[in-house]
Amino acid sequence: MLEFCVLGSGSSGNATIVRDKETTLLFDAGFSGKEIINRMKKAGLDPKEITAVIVSHEHGDHVKGVGVMSRRYGLPVYATPITHDNHFLRGQRLENEERISPTKAFKIDDFKITPFEVPHDASQTVGFRIENGGKCMAIATDMGHAPAKVQNKLKNCDALVLESNHDIQMLKDGPYPAFLKKRILSEKGHLPNVETGEVLAKVISARTKHVTLAHLSQENNSPEVALGTVKQILKSKKVDGVMIVPASQHSPADIVRI
Ligand SMILES: [Zn+2]
Ligand SMILES: [Zn+2]
Repeated sequence: MLEFCVLGSGSSGNATIVRDKETTLLFDAGFSGKEIINRMKKAGLDPKEITAVIVSHEHGDHVKGVGVMSRRYGLPVYATPITHDNHFLRGQRLENEERISPTKAFKIDDFKITPFEVPHDASQTVGFRIENGGKCMAIATDMGHAPAKVQNKLKNCDALVLESNHDIQMLKDGPYPAFLKKRILSEKGHLPNVETGEVLAKVISARTKHVTLAHLSQENNSPEVALGTVKQILKSKKVDGVMIVPASQHSPADIVRI
């Protein structure tokens, strides 16, 4: 049994639960501790069951509740040394600090987790390939583009949580100041819908059954636009048989069993 629940995703916070019968992992804790607990309860999950927190990078929308969750539930926090040493995480008192390589797999109970570096403007950002009992999923948010070595980590998975941040035209026409538009559109910013569709067309295989579109911009995207763009690209490349669901910033998604 492997299941996951995206508790919320977007620039106001990211957190995803992945669990098997014995172990519950919290990938990023970018909401307040209280909000994470509320969302877990809303999804029918028990925060007391969390085994560990695993952090992708130090941006506030990924680490806001890390310290609170770690201290309240006595949780170890797994992150790369560069991320641990960044002042955003350094400033939070953690119950227990686990330093992981950005490229080497590590184990937590029956989970094998392989981090992989993604291009983004934090001190270091990783995605995660998560394997357990023959099942596999990957989480990759916050990346300006997805080079081949990132795509390789997304291949042959049962489920994917992949960034689909913005519609390029909506961003260009939208209210953001020029410097922010430039940052988002850069190689180290955020992944636009069209690129998400193209990456998915390359990495989805017969075993891929579920894709969550993550980190949707509130201003420069909408669930309909993201879904429409991605589906159109997949259709044009004759990729089908996959459930595609946009994640919400405001409420937890349904639990997905893979
Ligand atoms: Zn970020
Ligand atoms: Zn983010």
